[in-house]
Amino acid sequence: MNAPVPPVPPTEPHVMQTYGRLPIALSHGQGCWVWDTAGRRYLDGLGGIAVNTLGHAHPRLVPALQEQVAKLIHTSNYYHVPLQEKLAAKLVEISGMTNAFFCNSGLEANEAALKIARKFGHDRGNTNPELIVFEGAFHGRSIATLSATANPKIHAGFGPLVGGFVRVPLNNIAAVEAALKAHPNVTGIFLETIQGEGGVNPARIEFLQGLRRVCDEHDILLMLDEVQCGIGRTGKWFAHQWAGITPDVMPLAKGLGSGVPVGAVVCGPRAAKVLQPGNHGTTFGGNPLAMRAGVETLSIMEEDGLLANAAKVGGELKAALTEQLAGVPGVVEVRGQGLMLGIELDRSAAALLQQAADAGLMISVTADKVVRLVPALIMSSDEAAQLAAILVPLIKAFVATPKP
Ligand SMILES: *Cc1c(COP(=O)(O)O)cnc(C)c1O
Repeated sequence: MNAPVPPVPPTEPHVMQTYGRLPIALSHGQGCWVWDTAGRRYLDGLGGIAVNTLGHAHPRLVPALQEQVAKLIHTSNYYHVPLQEKLAAKLVEISGMTNAFFCNSGLEANEAALKIARKFGHDRGNTNPELIVFEGAFHGRSIATLSATANPKIHAGFGPLVGGFVRVPLNNIAAVEAALKAHPNVTGIFLETIQGEGGVNPARIEFLQGLRRVCDEHDILLMLDEVQCGIGRTGKWFAHQWAGITPDVMPLAKGLGSGVPVGAVVCGPRAAKVLQPGNHGTTFGGNPLAMRAGVETLSIMEEDGLLANAAKVGGELKAALTEQLAGVPGVVEVRGQGLMLGIELDRSAAALLQQAADAGLMISVTADKVVRLVPALIMSSDEAAQLAAILVPLIKAFVATPKP
């Protein structure tokens, strides 16, 4: 248990103040555990926001990256980068798609997806392509991806937004079909397979299958943002694989490099040749260090059975939370799949961040009322039980106080 004395908050007079941070500075980590500069230890239920697939200081990732740094960090896309082909081939194998483009982050992967959808239209003589997007969506914070995002707080102050987005409710195939009728210029349907920032809201299996059918009927692109829910988090490589479908375009990032920034957009045959030389590019994207991180992450995941581990430990954690929070007034729902779980409360959960940290646990809160758990896929059953043992009493005490 951590010392009760609050630490002196770190000050950052030179860093732009774009984040509301907790007064904690972190120093190092090991597996699912992280230590702060005051020597206190935390169980990491956040995983760097679904990024640290292999946890911290993984004993096989660290030497691989050290070796890569000593060999070659960056050249440029003027030349072939053999590790790009290696990572692309692996992504193609596990997705059943055909080609990958590499970038550095989630919003960049989505930006590439948006460009593909627009050019897919232009290539067919549609000079005003539109896209169907969803309520509750989060796709990033560039001007285009924040325009695709649903959250008005993320839009505020940054208008005019990029046009061409038609927004409909999630899990309502009739609404999608109606939007397609009203908007004949639509060239794609763009959604997170499981909404992350929107509060851990899964697109239902029948809905995903319906979208696949509608996209085939209309010859438009199914674009699944798996930046957060992909890379094994739900117990399959990609969350849409539970529905037995394959998208045309799939942006990835967060977990792909286990902490090293790696973004990718993976495409199937209808989308893979849309971007031609000169249409798109990035200086850093696909550099040898990032590609090595991606290759090693996927191969360690495979060797260590981390898909099965995410399914098993995530299932145990969800069962423990569901059981221990059952009937607690103020707890609306425990939901999610694998190691992407949300606990919705009847009130703002923001204050729980500090309370959890004081109790030695890192969590996240999203969509204001949802406690989100997206830990490393290496989490053990014992660590999941420890997580529940810290979190459940905190939530019970939190919702027992009168609603503010
Ligand atoms: C985090 C996230 C993004 C944005 O990724 P960045 O790397 O922060 O730009 C986009 N889509 C989804 C679903 C995300 O969870």
